[in-house]
Amino acid sequence: MNKKRILLITTGGTIAMDGDTKTGYKPILVGKDLLSSLPPFKDKIKVDINEYGNYPSPHITLKNMLEIRNIIIENSKNYDGFVITHGTDTLEETAYFLDLTLPKGKPVVLTAAMRSINELGLDGPRNIYTSIRVATDLKSKEHKVMVVLNDEIFDTKTVTKIDTSNISSFSSLYMGILGIADEDKIIFYRSRYFHEYYDISNIIEDVYLIKLYAGADSYLIEKSVERGVSGIVVEALGRGNVPPKVIPGIQKAIANKIPVLIVSRAYQGRVLDVYGYEGGGKQLKKMGCIFGGSLSGQKARIKLSVLLSKGTKSNSLEKYFKND
Ligand code: ASP
Repeated sequence: MNKKRILLITTGGTIAMDGDTKTGYKPILVGKDLLSSLPPFKDKIKVDINEYGNYPSPHITLKNMLEIRNIIIENSKNYDGFVITHGTDTLEETAYFLDLTLPKGKPVVLTAAMRSINELGLDGPRNIYTSIRVATDLKSKEHKVMVVLNDEIFDTKTVTKIDTSNISSFSSLYMGILGIADEDKIIFYRSRYFHEYYDISNIIEDVYLIKLYAGADSYLIEKSVERGVSGIVVEALGRGNVPPKVIPGIQKAIANKIPVLIVSRAYQGRVLDVYGYEGGGKQLKKMGCIFGGSLSGQKARIKLSVLLSKGTKSNSLEKYFKND
């Protein structure tokens, strides 16, 4: 039997960090350190390493995401799957970006750790080991890009970091896990219904995300318009409504041909234009705002950046969110 080949792309994160409570944790481990902590695989698997970088994930940008995507494309023919180690803070954004910008074919698994290497109850080695198992499983092909932690497999669209320190820090909320990696086998409980693929060669980074709150006004939106940003995602209230004082800012953005994408700060459910009061969804829709379904603010920002980078015009953006 031929060996399965996996490319481990390291990007940093707590999984590669050492330190103490005095100095604080910083990424220092390289790929071979990460692999040296793993037990032998039951199947025949050869793992090569690509040291992309050693970043804490708050340092990761859309440009980094595009470079990681390009590494996967360039190496696609030579590997059966890819595993990416990443910080947990922005892992969900990189995962969703890759899911949108990679063609179907080779499984890509992003993993991380909540504990750095000198902490008791280390989760990193097991997460890497499990991710390699998932990436070499034939059923994974259908799912393209996945997130694996604590033996659980998540889809990229719904997975989010829900806890700042607990080892069980990722959840897809009411959508649930895609599957599990048990001792004997990988099991998927859901199949994948909908795939998106946008081929891009550059990335527009100045799409801003603005979160709303009771009594919010237009200040931040107007500042973004003055800056001439490429797009604005508004994390609105409930079903997709805004306080009345936010309306002038949105009007200004749309008058300046800056797309305004509405999502909700609620964790679950879709935005929809059901409310007819001032600032309600019906007014926003009429003004020309795009509704981003059930995407979180940070995922909506990734998708809008990708769509704009592909050259999508403002007036045809809406259709790309119809399955969200
Ligand atoms: N702050 C770290 C990072 O995202 C957290 C982690 O990796 O778990 O890089």
